[in-house]
Amino acid sequence: AKGRPADNPLIVHVPNVARLDQVASEVPDVARLILRTFSPGPVTVVLPRSPTLSPLVSAGLDTVGVRIPAHETAQTFLDACGVPVAAPSANRSGRPSPTTWDAVLRDLDDRIDCLLRGPRARVGLESTVVDCTVTPPVVLRTGSVTVEALRAAIGDVEVATAGHGHAGRSPGTRHPHYAPRARIVLVDSPGDVLPVSTAGYIGIRAPGEGFGITRVVRDAAAYAHELYDFFRRCDALDLDTIVCQRVDRTGVGLALMDRIERAADR
Ligand code: AMP
Ligand code: MG
Repeated sequence: AKGRPADNPLIVHVPNVARLDQVASEVPDVARLILRTFSPGPVTVVLPRSPTLSPLVSAGLDTVGVRIPAHETAQTFLDACGVPVAAPSANRSGRPSPTTWDAVLRDLDDRIDCLLRGPRARVGLESTVVDCTVTPPVVLRTGSVTVEALRAAIGDVEVATAGHGHAGRSPGTRHPHYAPRARIVLVDSPGDVLPVSTAGYIGIRAPGEGFGITRVVRDAAAYAHELYDFFRRCDALDLDTIVCQRVDRTGVGLALMDRIERAADR
């Protein structure tokens, strides 16, 4: 339904830590600590996989990514399933992740049998992915559970960077992601570009008149919450450019800049 590449491992979802042994052969202490501190919530831990898990789920890797979502609809669904659920985001592969159920409908309507309607995603970015099979643990994908918060909770943490040898450990990060149809332009300040009606603008600083659509956000967290919804809105209006104001790469700003740069880099 998504057109997802088969070498991109799926994240498996369970409702609580008691169900981890259904997917993982071992849960290192550091993973338990991460889950105790940040779960249920937007953090995925990569663990040694259980031999009973289908290799289709982990794309042939000997590890599995596991997450305990906080969303009430997801919790209810997982409880009802009683088995772990391998679940990607419900977007067409390469499109921005959906943050609302109507975005799912727009991407997948003719390809899915049903949809669970629920409230809008609280965070708006994909989960932080932490490989707990290595020492120190490595953040494979940044997210709203920040590197700073992880370090405060568990101590030493590395962050995977392109060309650092980590990309092979998280195959999905090689694939194009999160991209709207419109071209992305990054600016330090809205005054750096001429506002035109065929462009949208999103950022913390308010721009001058002239953009087709603008979204001014209060901080990086609000920016992250709005980003994909704004991308989709701009595409729906058939704009050709989306101007994104840069933010500091601290806290959630690191994940936000990662997603914007991926969307810009096509
Ligand atoms: P998505 O479902 O689009 O949020 O993508 C899930 C992402 O989680 C993948 O693209 C990988 O980067 C990461 N992931 C899932 N399972 C593993 C794993 N076993 N090892 C490393 N990374 C993983
Ligand atoms: Mg996805």
